[in-house]
Amino acid sequence: RGKRAFIAGVADDNGYGWAIAKALAAAGAEILVGTWVPALTIFETSLRRGKFDESRRLANGSLMEIIKVYPLDAVYDSFEDVPEDVRTNKRYSGASNWTVKEVVESIKNDFGSVDILVHSLANGPEVTKPLLETSRRGYLAAISASSYSFVSLLQHFLPIMNPGGASISLTYIASEKTIPGYGGGMSSAKAALESDTRVLAFEAGRKGKIRVNTISAGPLGSRAAKAIGFIEKMIDYSYANAPLQKELSADEVGNVAAFLVSPLASAITGSVVYVDNGLNIMGLAT
Ligand code: NAD
Repeated sequence: RGKRAFIAGVADDNGYGWAIAKALAAAGAEILVGTWVPALTIFETSLRRGKFDESRRLANGSLMEIIKVYPLDAVYDSFEDVPEDVRTNKRYSGASNWTVKEVVESIKNDFGSVDILVHSLANGPEVTKPLLETSRRGYLAAISASSYSFVSLLQHFLPIMNPGGASISLTYIASEKTIPGYGGGMSSAKAALESDTRVLAFEAGRKGKIRVNTISAGPLGSRAAKAIGFIEKMIDYSYANAPLQKELSADEVGNVAAFLVSPLASAITGSVVYVDNGLNIMGLAT
């Protein structure tokens, strides 16, 4: 049978998660997605009404099929962790079983196991604030949504992942070089995510023969990136300064993700792989 993939962090057809889903579907994988609860209704409605049909089209002409959409909020590990105001919030109360533990239980009941786990989500409520002006609450929220969410997902998925499986996340160069504008502790969150990639690669490799890698992606005008406010500038900067002077397409990141979770990459684990037209190697703007 084909491989089964769960992609956390798909709520429209513009981001890296969508492109990764397509690349995996094109390679024959079965696609399950995890969609942030507040974005669930609009995503499912758009999907059902055919709004994404054009962007579901694969190179062979067929349409990517999303087998199931699971509501997910990766900031909560189990239902007991969900505060009262969130439980009763009307953006949340319409859905159920969306904490990490519950999503994994649902997938186990529905399908038994998965081979591929993709983490393509991030959130930093104070991302537009410099680190020097970031509150403790904002910093910890960025780490919770953008870094610990991966630890939690892997922790809960590992028991239902088939040996030889793989996971992947998305990171950004702001973890290692200062990128003014990428604030609110998001740079810290990406540094944690990259460090955790190495530690988890060791632990999940030994425990379940699962590989763990992260892609350091160049700038893409996704919904999340637009919320940061300087994405056009970053895209222009990359175009002007990267070794490869072309716009980065989400599909290029999708293709590398498909490679990294495939047997072609069976000896790669714990790595940060740059998919950024080479911008990371430059030390001087040109
Ligand atoms: P995106 O908007 O497509 O994806 C982010 C997703 O995270 C959204 O679907 C959002 O609903 C979801 N999300 C937010 N909080 C969540 C939570 N608590 N639980 C579950 N889902 C939640 O944007 P994207 O830019 O494609 O982001 C995907 C990943 O790529 C992120 O990790 C991001 O940091 C990374 N990345 C993006 C860029 C870029 O320029 N766009 C560059 C490098 C890395």
